[in-house]
Amino acid sequence: MLAFQNLQSRGMMMNENFKMSTSMLNHTCRSTILSTIKNRQTFENAVNLLLNEKKEFIVYLVDIDDFKLINEQHGYSYGDYFLACLFKAFNNLLLSTFRLSGDQIALVEETRDLKSISKTITKIRDIVNYASKSESINQSVTCSIGVLNCPEDGKTVESIERHIDIAINEAKAKGKNTDIIYTQSLKDKLDRVRGIELGVAHALQTDGFDLFLQPIFDMNDCSHKKYEVLLRWLSADNKGISIGEVIGVAEKSSQITEIDRYVIDKMFFIIMKYSRQEKFCINISAQSFYDDVFISFLEEKLLEYSVSPELIELEITEYSCVKDIEHTKKNMQRIKSLGFRIALDDFGTEYSSLNYLGKLPFDALKIDKSYVDEICNPTDWIIVKHLIALANELKLDTIAEGIEDSDQKNILKDLGCKYGQGYLISKPKDYKVMLDINEDD
Ligand code: C2E
Ligand code: MG
Ligand code: MG
Repeated sequence: MLAFQNLQSRGMMMNENFKMSTSMLNHTCRSTILSTIKNRQTFENAVNLLLNEKKEFIVYLVDIDDFKLINEQHGYSYGDYFLACLFKAFNNLLLSTFRLSGDQIALVEETRDLKSISKTITKIRDIVNYASKSESINQSVTCSIGVLNCPEDGKTVESIERHIDIAINEAKAKGKNTDIIYTQSLKDKLDRVRGIELGVAHALQTDGFDLFLQPIFDMNDCSHKKYEVLLRWLSADNKGISIGEVIGVAEKSSQITEIDRYVIDKMFFIIMKYSRQEKFCINISAQSFYDDVFISFLEEKLLEYSVSPELIELEITEYSCVKDIEHTKKNMQRIKSLGFRIALDDFGTEYSSLNYLGKLPFDALKIDKSYVDEICNPTDWIIVKHLIALANELKLDTIAEGIEDSDQKNILKDLGCKYGQGYLISKPKDYKVMLDINEDD
């Protein structure tokens, strides 16, 4: 195998190549370079051969980050040319090189030495980096790399293609310039995520979610006429999947906006059907909060179910505020003009910028459970004391989350916190149980 010490001199050659102006590349020249590149079919044949010969080998799938931008900024001719030059340089590594699709290049290294993986990854990155520094492109280009150890983690062409895709997708999801080596546990993790996504889609279609309520109580007398609405998916609970995990997956797959609409629709229906007069706090994801169509949806649902908006408090997290404070303010004003109240949920877990409290028109502040857990610790006590004082000055209601014992409750009450929520008073319960609704009535 050609030693990589030659990269420097080969790089000089590449640099010369890259200096060639794109205008000099005529269509025939480009297509000649690209037509000599081996494609997916040749990759599959080569891999089949290696498997039949019981060889050990490593597959690297290289995906150029933001390749679309190179095409857009420098033209498709240049994009093709860039790829062709990369191929040439990769071939010089004496690895079999294949173009699997647009900007995805597979390299096959015949070795049983897993230690060579990190060396080869460095060489691949050096080549891409060098190519991108050429005068004609002069912009930093990086790549994502998926790595698969065969036949250990891929015993057939189909499984090799599937597993290398898993590795490259994970690398791309982690951000640019990342490499991921496929493992069975990575596959298990992705299978679990996929299973949750399919389950959520099914539950949304079949009304397969439940709504639970947890009381928000007055610190003075523990009375309550206000509840937080919490989604439950009982069939997933049995499989050890928490609602937090479901929400996390849904936020990444964008199913969260459908979940938010589902909860609004179902809760408004319950309020109408049973003529409820209590207040209900509903969690809204950042995605929904930023979606103008979602605000129109809220408006439509108020009319459809004749629900009084004063009964509804929408809980948003700090994450919803950080993106763009002016846009956040605009959306909050629109939502508030419909008559809803808005609470800032989980305060203290993320950015905790006091800036939001003064600038955005919140009605309530929910102090995160992590502060309540540590309220006996002098530092947390001081923080919470000042936070409550500030919220009171700003005329915001304060709600302490996750109160589990009466010591926590008494300390928070003494600090001037108005409301509490937690297992001390009640765990979340099915809405029918919590509201004492008998379906037969
Ligand atoms: P959250 O909005 O902060 O909800 C409060 C969480 O604290 C709930 O967890 C509740 O069950 C839990 N909790 C309340 N008191 C106690 C306590 O004393 N001890 C302990 N250990 N936990 C307590 P849950 O129901 O698992 O919900 C987790 C998160 O999932 C919620 O946090 C919220 O961010 C999200 N979520 C739940 N339902 C929905 C929903 O319908 N839509 C959206 N977008 N998110 C939801
Ligand atoms: Mg909440
Ligand atoms: Mg919370």
